[in-house]
Amino acid sequence: MSDFLKSELEKAEQCLLETYELAESYGDNEEKDKSKYLQLMEQICQIRDDAIRNEDALKVAMEERTIADFESAFEGTINRAGKKFQAKKTREYKAFSDRLEDISRSARGDTLPSTTKKDGALIEMDMQVNINDPITKKRMVDPVKNTICGHIYERSSIQDAIQIKPTLRCPVAGCGNKQYINMAHLRPDNALKLHLQRIAEGENDNDSDTNA
Ligand SMILES: [Zn+2]
Repeated sequence: MSDFLKSELEKAEQCLLETYELAESYGDNEEKDKSKYLQLMEQICQIRDDAIRNEDALKVAMEERTIADFESAFEGTINRAGKKFQAKKTREYKAFSDRLEDISRSARGDTLPSTTKKDGALIEMDMQVNINDPITKKRMVDPVKNTICGHIYERSSIQDAIQIKPTLRCPVAGCGNKQYINMAHLRPDNALKLHLQRIAEGENDNDSDTNA
């Protein structure tokens, strides 16, 4: 498949996820309907498969010496391979569906403990994995989320790290995302940012209590 088509399809997929994320935050129930996004993803998988199949059929047909043989080899290969394809069984479709689940779960607040809790220590325990930057290990202030794998980093530290090494991959240990990190893949995590602000405010309150 051409790199161009490949990257266009990835963009389309990303765009769907972002739209869904917005819908989860601001949309009505109809816009939050996951099945629409899944249907579109199915089409993306179909386009991707068509492109790969066309390419394979072309390779086979190129072996032929006459136009008629070329045509029948091409059609034959396309049809034989096409019947088996089930978009929903592809790895891409499953990953997409998982990402939708993650987004809807975090929109419902399942991954963040209640921010009304005043006990900073308790919140920190719950959030330990999430509130520290994986690079500096310091608590984040301006978190950005990698939309490919869902991991979160402090904006300034990931920016610095990319500058030093443009071919940087997700620094979270064990992350399966093999793509180079690109600032275009990073989006502010506003829910977490707010949460971090609440934690910081809670700590300031405690400080003034002890100083008083
Ligand atoms: Zn990652």
